[in-house]
Amino acid sequence: MNDNERDRVKVLLVDDNAFARSVSRRVLRSAGVGSIQEAASGQEGMDLLGQQVDVVFCDLMMPIMDGIQSIRHLATLAAPPALVIVSSTNAVLLKTAEAMARARGLRVLGAIEKPLTVGAVRYVLSRFGEEPSSLDRHGAVDLTLDDFEVALAKEQFLLYFQPKIRVADNSVAGFESLVRWRHPDKGLILPGDFIPAAERSGRIGALTDQITILAMTQCAAWISSGFRTKVSINLSAYMLVDLDLPDRMAGQAASFGIDPRQLILEITESGVLQDDGDTLDILARLHMKGFPLSIDDFGTGYSSMEQLSRIPFAEMKIDRTFVNGAAENATVRAILESSADLGRSLRMSVVAEGVETQKDWDTVRNAGIDIVQGYFAGRPMAADQIPAWLTEWTRTHPA
Ligand code: C2E
Ligand code: CA
Ligand code: CA
Repeated sequence: MNDNERDRVKVLLVDDNAFARSVSRRVLRSAGVGSIQEAASGQEGMDLLGQQVDVVFCDLMMPIMDGIQSIRHLATLAAPPALVIVSSTNAVLLKTAEAMARARGLRVLGAIEKPLTVGAVRYVLSRFGEEPSSLDRHGAVDLTLDDFEVALAKEQFLLYFQPKIRVADNSVAGFESLVRWRHPDKGLILPGDFIPAAERSGRIGALTDQITILAMTQCAAWISSGFRTKVSINLSAYMLVDLDLPDRMAGQAASFGIDPRQLILEITESGVLQDDGDTLDILARLHMKGFPLSIDDFGTGYSSMEQLSRIPFAEMKIDRTFVNGAAENATVRAILESSADLGRSLRMSVVAEGVETQKDWDTVRNAGIDIVQGYFAGRPMAADQIPAWLTEWTRTHPA
């Protein structure tokens, strides 16, 4: 981040101690920060967040609403600012607070001890410039949690379906359901713009329940029209704390007359990482009730082979970063091939995501992968577009 960018960054400084605030303000100014707002308590800070703030420097030790509580509150906002945790207390508490903020989905630029120094401020702010901020921070999609609640109440969510194709014979292996939000004014909104906020605010469960019903409704409609196919549902890692989930899903499937084996549950790799008691309990029981489990975005998380063998996954979906363009990049190809080998040796069905070109398709086939998904075969589409797509696909890609 250069001087110019630092000058444009809007900082909110939350600290109950007036002297500490004045020191911090001077340091921030010397570091080149152009806009500084101040709050003398966590509560006052939260009230100021109505205005545009890019980065919050939050003190941990405050009498009324302490830093931990303020961070908890921050995490419930639809588009929270980035966070710098500041404290004069011990370094371990600083680390705990940092881990807690990250676990709540906040973007933490750093945790620094008081008094602030120009060097430390410049360092943490340089990290603000590094990653592109999420879409909603740029105002491309400006959504609040209230909008989201209305959407849940008015059932504005719908599913698109993307085909999964067997490499061996070009046949359709199933469809992944991908949620969309049909917003009355803003049009069709993609999940990347609302799933993270739903997760942070604890509303992902309510959303997933709606999604599950939509997916099962479509699956049942296909079955009754004679089109028996599998439907994949994405389960957020945040759902894997709900011990009632397996019974609820099994009950729903039964009420739709769908064999759970038709419904693949995709779980992102990073979500599986917390292999605590509840997560394993839920995954084991979903498996016992007949739902095939799929490990999503494989390669982007950190699951060890041991973790993979401990959880009964039926399917591995290799993340598109190891698929798209693999032909041109030997390292990427090596990861693709070894993931495919690993999946096969664990008797999983291996799916490559993000197959966009004939070249991707060929690379994936050579790696011995069973199933492909990606723009090459078909984009995510509304259910009513699928018959036309299917006719065209079978005409152009016979077995
Ligand atoms: P994902 O599960 O990895 O889904 C695949 C994403 O890749 C989809 O984006 C899809 O449109 C996109 N994609 C498919 N083929 C290609 C391709 O060939 N090239 C490229 N570049 N992209 C491709 P989408 O629909 O925007 O979804 C993004 C993410 O949002 C999903 O990633 C998933 O993690 C999450 N998501 C989507 N629907 C749901 C849902 O119903 N529940 C939950 N919890 N998460 C969902
Ligand atoms: Ca998925
Ligand atoms: Ca994926």
